[in-house]
Amino acid sequence: MTKETDEKMILVEVRQAYEKHEIKAFFQPIYDALSGKMVCAEALSRWIKEDGTMVMPGDYIPVLEASDAICELDWYMVREVCIALKEQEELGIPCVKVSVNFSRKHISNQSFVGKLCEITDTYGIAHKMIQVELTESALIDNSMEQVGDFVNAIRNEGFSVAVDDFGTGMSSLGMVKDVAIDTLKIDRSLLNRNCEDERERIVLESILEFAHRLKLVTVAEGVETAEQLGFLRTCGCKQIQGYLFAKPMPKEEFRKVCVSDAKKELEEDILSVQSQASAVQLLLDAVYTRYPLIIYINLTRNSYYMMKYDGFTSTSCVSAGAFDECIIHASGTMHPEDAELFRQTFCIENQMAAYERGEKCISVMVRQLGDDKVYRRVEVTNYFVKNPSSEDVLVISLSHNFD
Ligand code: C2E
Ligand code: CA
Ligand code: CA
Repeated sequence: MTKETDEKMILVEVRQAYEKHEIKAFFQPIYDALSGKMVCAEALSRWIKEDGTMVMPGDYIPVLEASDAICELDWYMVREVCIALKEQEELGIPCVKVSVNFSRKHISNQSFVGKLCEITDTYGIAHKMIQVELTESALIDNSMEQVGDFVNAIRNEGFSVAVDDFGTGMSSLGMVKDVAIDTLKIDRSLLNRNCEDERERIVLESILEFAHRLKLVTVAEGVETAEQLGFLRTCGCKQIQGYLFAKPMPKEEFRKVCVSDAKKELEEDILSVQSQASAVQLLLDAVYTRYPLIIYINLTRNSYYMMKYDGFTSTSCVSAGAFDECIIHASGTMHPEDAELFRQTFCIENQMAAYERGEKCISVMVRQLGDDKVYRRVEVTNYFVKNPSSEDVLVISLSHNFD
């Protein structure tokens, strides 16, 4: 069979699948990066055939995208989402906003917003419960004016708008600033080095900082590891979507997650003053207040990032990168009589040796040149910490300046 007949077959089969209700909306929860509470969910289509085999979107979406048939799927999905939300409401289970994917093909459709209102109103779903997801590439394909008008019309009706897959296309952050979107979803390809690569961290950090300046909600997609979560948190990323927390799931299972998440809130409210989690948070707040410079170092991988770097005497060090370069740079800012002591104490080789000897921490007092060209006494203490999920030797470095 040729590729063309293959594709025609898929188009016919998908139409039949709607009628047989074989296309389902799955829901993937999205969590607040700090509190771990579910704040949103993304609706993702799944084709479940009569015999139970599941066809993933990658096998039919590209074919639908090639014709206008993708629009039919998107409208079908909005209806499925509205039905699921309505059922859930009738069961008295609280729900979160649901983000629905829309193809770029809708942008030129003048009656898009009218149709979206018509569907949601038919099911009696509040507009704030639906978010429209547009891929970054949709922004490039159309004129800025056209995209801007499309987004404004959607938001004027009370829906929110997210730009999806940010970082995959050619669009710049500048383009994002010209369109009044609510949320920026950062593509998972930007995390594929597990945040261990300096360039990857710099790219993520700059996107997040820029997005936060524009007051956008940021979502990192495809978060699979604790390292990724840790780094994203330190960059202030607001929301997390990924297998680390939850995979896309059928609506029945999603309902259970909504129930247990709502309970979690209740328990947290009751215990918020005394729970161990809140005590740990208070402890962290205290440590963050006490030290102007806190660095997370992975000695094994020669990497570091600043967890806090605010109000310290010198601010010339880059916020993430190769640790040995950080030491060379920092030695250069020390008083000439202290530079060698600093370098010797904190070079990777000697820190590793101290760790091997079983020392809990190493500490020095040095004089460092501040941004204002004044030498100040600085105490640096590096604590060796154990990460249960990794063999890597990790260090938390706490520094403060006197005078
Ligand atoms: P997307 O919009 O970027 O959706 C996120 C994809 O990442 C989903 O793939 C999700 O299952 C996957 N994902 C989420 N967390 C992780 C993770 O931690 N690790 C990994 N490896 N993957 C993760 P899925 O469900 O296969 O969907 C693929 C794409 O198909 C979606 O990408 C979206 O572009 C498209 N799609 C799905 N349903 C619809 C729809 O109803 N309409 C339109 N227009 N596109 C849809
Ligand atoms: Ca999406
Ligand atoms: Ca995406």
